[in-house]
Amino acid sequence: NGTSRDRLRIAIQKSGRLAEPARALLSACGLSWRESRDKLFCYGESLPVDLLLVRDDDIPGLIADGVCDFGVVGRNELNEQAGARQSIGLPAAYQELRALGFGGCRLMLAVPEAWQWSGPEQLQGTRIATSYPAILAQWLQEQGVQASVVELSGSVEIAPKLGTADLICDLVSSGATLAANQLKPVQTLLESEAVLAGPVRRFEDQRAQLAAMLLRRMDGVLKLKDSKLLMFRAERATVAELTRLLPDAEPLTTLAGSEEGPLSLQTMCHGAVTWQRLEELERAGAQGLMVLSVERSLA
Ligand code: ATP
Ligand code: MG
Repeated sequence: NGTSRDRLRIAIQKSGRLAEPARALLSACGLSWRESRDKLFCYGESLPVDLLLVRDDDIPGLIADGVCDFGVVGRNELNEQAGARQSIGLPAAYQELRALGFGGCRLMLAVPEAWQWSGPEQLQGTRIATSYPAILAQWLQEQGVQASVVELSGSVEIAPKLGTADLICDLVSSGATLAANQLKPVQTLLESEAVLAGPVRRFEDQRAQLAAMLLRRMDGVLKLKDSKLLMFRAERATVAELTRLLPDAEPLTTLAGSEEGPLSLQTMCHGAVTWQRLEELERAGAQGLMVLSVERSLA
């Protein structure tokens, strides 16, 4: 529906794995709401951006129907519903705008531990239980394999034991659930994480500017996620070696320093700065190492 609105509405999971990280990300983008965690709707205070708290399954549909403008949802859920739409001839209604770096998991095939996995052709004629029938069906088609897809909404991992399927296609993060059910993962169909989803159509009202601002802030937050500002002193002669130890950092900037004596250096490091790395840098000649958190950046 093309109703014009001057407030932006974002759907996030009400409770579950993506609920807290989604709120934290949006807070870091400068959004705040009149707290009402147990309600469905949170009214935006700092900006005209409201939250709708829903089940993750409902998020793609809310975007498709124009009820919400954005959503934070797993790529697995988004692609599944996009695939389901496509398979019944509906046009694409949403798109992945940003990968958000949390909620990471894989959609995988898992077989009974006793199986010797030799590749997709082994699936010919099998029954595969899954909550992701569209993604699985599409993948099977790409592999040129015929297998029957048994759609289950939950507890997919017990299907082989119950005899309702030979193997499963399910989300895996640690693999503990699979192991507890004597299954082993053998093939990845999708690398998933939480994503920001939005409509395929453009906003033609106030929402366009709001959406652009939100995306720009989000890019700033995502870029800084693991970034730290690193400050230290070092003799000129050690700079080459220190630079080699910082492949994930920006080029070193010299802050000050006389002709002789140590240089004062700083750099933004985008990878994790562990104690071990600091100790390595120290051994290579860095002195007075300081690691600073970066609050915000529009770079
Ligand atoms: P809802 O009540 O909102 O429908 P849910 O049970 O469907 O909740 P969660 O279990 O909270 O959803 O998972 C939400 C998303 O978290 C998944 O769609 C997936 O993208 C991601 N995720 C990360 N790791 C895992 C995992 N090990 N198992 C399931 N989902 C995972
Ligand atoms: Mg769900």
